[in-house]
Amino acid sequence: MKFGIDIGHNCPPHDTGATGIKQEDTLTKAVGTQLIQKLKAAGHTVIDCTPTTASSVNDSLRQRTNKANTNNVNVFVSIHFNKFNAIASGTEIFAISNVSKGIAQSVLKEILKLGFKNRGVKNTGFFVLKNTQMPAILIECCFCDAKVDMDRFDAEKMAEAIKDGLIGQSDEDDLPKPDKSYILQITKATVLKPSTDQASELAQESLVDIEPGNYPVLDVRFEENHYWVKWPDKSKGNRNQHFVFAGHSKVIEKD
Ligand SMILES: [Zn+2]
Repeated sequence: MKFGIDIGHNCPPHDTGATGIKQEDTLTKAVGTQLIQKLKAAGHTVIDCTPTTASSVNDSLRQRTNKANTNNVNVFVSIHFNKFNAIASGTEIFAISNVSKGIAQSVLKEILKLGFKNRGVKNTGFFVLKNTQMPAILIECCFCDAKVDMDRFDAEKMAEAIKDGLIGQSDEDDLPKPDKSYILQITKATVLKPSTDQASELAQESLVDIEPGNYPVLDVRFEENHYWVKWPDKSKGNRNQHFVFAGHSKVIEKD
């Protein structure tokens, strides 16, 4: 597997993390650095998606997702720490696609073994989740302003738990299997377009015609007026992920 690891913030002066009992930047750096070492030691390829300089927060985030997309990583992992009111505590993981949520559950389960409070897997479309072309999770390891969390926190144990959650259940070569499968039912001929930012500028030949029919897909999510789809093979063009227009189509869950 090829992992894209995004060590949250750490890109001064514009993109720096929260300040609590400890600095978020210090915590994400400690966990991320050890996670990278552990994944490599387990035989995986790791792309460090953390930029060193950026002109704005947007630029910092854009560089992270571009690096993951350009390197075609299998899974993108963004590491963060929460801050709220010094009372809130625990771990939450954000993910928006179905495969991503499965990975998030697996990682959350491992982190909870360390004793952190379970705040669940949540569905907020953060920039790095929406702009990566592969399953992606954003981990809020725990709260950097909560004494109960900072007393419990150990960077090495956190990195180990994340690593176990990422690779414990996955197959050797390909993406983690979704726990459900889906049928995309297309009732009227439509086109697919590659899921890049420049999709509107792409030449006509990069659009793929799709005939009415039932198409098994590995993963799917609805975004505004179209679906994002992960096909089981590359027959729908040389990219594995495309948007399909939502009109005249629906998704059927198969158990
Ligand atoms: Zn953060």
